[in-house]
Amino acid sequence: MTIPATEAVPSATLLGVRVHLITMRRAVEVIRQMLHGDVPRRILTAHTAMLARVHAAPDLLEVVNSADLTTPDGFGILLVGRILGLRFPERVAGADLAEALCALCAREHLRVFLLGAKPGVAEAAAAALIRRYPGLHVAGTQHGYFTGDEEPAVLARIRVARPHLLLVAMGFPPQDQWIARHRHSLNVPVCMGVGGTLDVMAGMFRRAPAWVQRAGLEWLYRAVQEPRRWRVAASIPGVILLAVRERLGGRARLRRSRG
Ligand code: UDP
Repeated sequence: MTIPATEAVPSATLLGVRVHLITMRRAVEVIRQMLHGDVPRRILTAHTAMLARVHAAPDLLEVVNSADLTTPDGFGILLVGRILGLRFPERVAGADLAEALCALCAREHLRVFLLGAKPGVAEAAAAALIRRYPGLHVAGTQHGYFTGDEEPAVLARIRVARPHLLLVAMGFPPQDQWIARHRHSLNVPVCMGVGGTLDVMAGMFRRAPAWVQRAGLEWLYRAVQEPRRWRVAASIPGVILLAVRERLGGRARLRRSRG
């Protein structure tokens, strides 16, 4: 479903996944409208590992392409875009976007709920965010390892907390499937899947320095800190190859809507 807030934002389809061609600044503006709206919206951040997962399991396309806004999270997405003849204006990394939204929520007195990661991490992330953005109202925190039996209580806590922004850090695809399943009953204006961002906010892992990010090597920096991420890195060449094949097959599609 296209919605007014993103109608004016052009999007492209990369290996079946719709990604918006948007800057960080515009993404924050668009999400600001959503935060003040009364329709629950979903934000997704697309990276190459996601493209690989979706390619291997096309049934994920529905949850991915039904998000209201999908930002180009990783350098790999920009590269795949280039191969397909598309120019994304810049990277809009989930971790940076989540920070910018927390800063916005602090300024505009909006409530944030942090859901996901191991026990204690969301609380540590909340404390770090409040230090960085004094006045930020973290309406609640919850780890991401609850059982099916515990889920109704988790949902009830979120409803009672009435956040404007719910950051869900349970990895792709579980976090995005969880949001898609519950966002209407939660009635939270904006839910966003943020992967390992709470771990970073809590100080468990560090983001790569700006120059490493600019060089497109953040995936390498993160893989060195977290060896399980080598699997993610290993998906990059396959995705590049698929993009080259799609380009050669002339199947790249670009949809621009008029602003
Ligand atoms: N996680 C969780 N519940 C689970 C599995 C994972 O809360 O059942 C958390 C995990 O602790 C980590 C995050 O989800 O904080 C996954 O981050 P990752 O970087 O793997 O996500 P990606 O960005 O790769 O989707």
